Amino acid sequence: MPEGSGLPPAIVVSACLLGVRCNHLGQASRSEAVEAMRAGGARLVPICPEVAGGLPTPRPAAEVQADGSVCTADGADVSVFYGRGAAAAVALARAVGATEAVLKARSPSCGCHEIYDGTFSRRRVPGEGVTARALREAGLAMRSEEDL
Ligand code: SF4
Repeated sequence: MPEGSGLPPAIVVSACLLGVRCNHLGQASRSEAVEAMRAGGARLVPICPEVAGGLPTPRPAAEVQADGSVCTADGADVSVFYGRGAAAAVALARAVGATEAVLKARSPSCGCHEIYDGTFSRRRVPGEGVTARALREAGLAMRSEEDL
């Protein structure tokens, strides 16, 4: 945002944290901490990268694999959708001048500290979702809703 606009800095946010029913089950993951940011005047810019990438809601659960691809439990490779969503999130961040993101913990798109290990056994490992990685590489500072 140009100097002197008077607006607070834009912050990219996972849309599900703001109550959008866009996760793979067709549900939201509303975060009171994110809602408090909004109530406090933060300029939150929501995006659901999986929806932006062209996936339906609801949709099969998917996990990042050891080779970096994203697959569903039945082995379908959905990496192209996740990559497209990540590109959309980076484009949005650049368009609004965001330097910070608050992203849903452990999502294969949005997880920014840890993700599930790709075996669909709910085992967590250090790592990033596809969009979180892309936004970090684009220079944004990353937090999950659990960091707030
Ligand atoms: Fe939420 Fe991100 Fe998953 Fe969309 S891709 S439902 S914004 S965690």
